Amino acid sequence: MSNRTILADHDIPRQWYNLAADLPHAPLPPLGPDGNPVNPQALAAVFPMNLIEQEMSQERWISIPDEVLEIMLRYRPTPLHRARALESALGTPARIYFKNESVSPTGSHKVNTAVAQAFYNKAAGVKRVTSETGAGQWGSSIAFACSQFGLECKVYMVKVSFQQKPFRKVMMNTFGAECVPSPSSETNAGRAILAADPGSGGSLGIAISEAVEAAVSDPSGRTRYTLGSVLNHVLLHQTIIGLEAKKQLAALGERKVNQVIACVGGGSNFAGIAFPFIQDKINGSQIDIIAVEPASCPTLTRGPYVYDHGDVAGLTPLLAMHSLGHTFMPDGIHAGGLRYHGMAPLVSQTVMEGLTRAVSLQQLECFESALLFARTEGIIPAPESSHAIAQAIREARQAKEEGKERVILFNLSGHGLMDLNGYSDFMEGKLVDHELSREALAQGLTCLEGLPVPASR
Ligand SMILES: *Cc1c(COP(=O)(O)O)cnc(C)c1O
Repeated sequence: MSNRTILADHDIPRQWYNLAADLPHAPLPPLGPDGNPVNPQALAAVFPMNLIEQEMSQERWISIPDEVLEIMLRYRPTPLHRARALESALGTPARIYFKNESVSPTGSHKVNTAVAQAFYNKAAGVKRVTSETGAGQWGSSIAFACSQFGLECKVYMVKVSFQQKPFRKVMMNTFGAECVPSPSSETNAGRAILAADPGSGGSLGIAISEAVEAAVSDPSGRTRYTLGSVLNHVLLHQTIIGLEAKKQLAALGERKVNQVIACVGGGSNFAGIAFPFIQDKINGSQIDIIAVEPASCPTLTRGPYVYDHGDVAGLTPLLAMHSLGHTFMPDGIHAGGLRYHGMAPLVSQTVMEGLTRAVSLQQLECFESALLFARTEGIIPAPESSHAIAQAIREARQAKEEGKERVILFNLSGHGLMDLNGYSDFMEGKLVDHELSREALAQGLTCLEGLPVPASR
């Protein structure tokens, strides 16, 4: 009885899958300050042109450059595990599979797009990249990727996470990158936040403002900005996860997957595992695709579908997405990677088109599920990934009640070995559940007034 399937190196997918080519409606374009679709040239100070082209591409399949494959082959194809120990602990007739993205150099799926983005920046003649990071997973991934391509790297890390997870900075430094807590006094955006609230713990929206400003204000013109989630090209790079999983399930003789589950922060690991299955769903397969978010940052389940900025200062174009408002400040829950006010436009669109079902969970249930997973499968999951695990456990229990088989696939987006503070707080009984109040939700949405609204169809 094998518990793990590993594809041979030569079976690694050679192309990424672009869902934009298959969605029932064309994606809505990002809008500039004048309310009109942004011209690609207007983004050229922020991103290299090769990535801007990918961002806007309608091609269904996009070739993965050899240089990117070569680096990914250090840790890919990643294993697909059958969670037999978890299944028997639950006594469920469901077969539970998970894709293990924790085996990457920094312990999460984020390396998949970091390597691709570093490659395209290097190819475009960029010397230095800036970025933001929440829990530190993205910062360490882009730091690793920059080390591979000889790029300089500077990361603005959300201050509460910087304090909770000091080893992430050490990781970034180890890969040769610089990491500063955000809000910092180095940018106009950071200084403005600090002037208004000197004790600000920061947010992803603030850190993005700082990193974008630092890129576009470099007088040499050879600095660009990178983003770890949300944008179409980032989601594209992650589809290698689901494409591998499909091959692996087929190798195991699984013909039909009933449910595909992933946590959502900005939406990239979800897109990575789910989009190749959403293609099947568009083509007629019945698959329940579930995006799981924290109840304290319920973007898909309680946020409206609007045009909003990706960052707090409003430097980014307006994206058509579910949002809690770009000034929204989520509670300091331990799943730092899920504390983002917005959502990838492509993921939002799959919800609007009825292809994805969104649910929200409380952190205590997620940590309980993480402990069960650790004690059965032997992997300590990232607090973010524990949201997917908790939902998979709910579904497996339901299968038991119904006495019916089903095949559940979830994405283990990363391990939690850098997040042991969260585990310690949980086991000491220090964590509590957070439900976003209706007042806080309404307050967060006030910043959307006056922004354009996506046309309903
Ligand atoms: C960043 C991160 C997430 C959330 O980001 P997405 O873009 O929604 O995937 C989830 N899990 C892990 C381990 C992360 O590092």
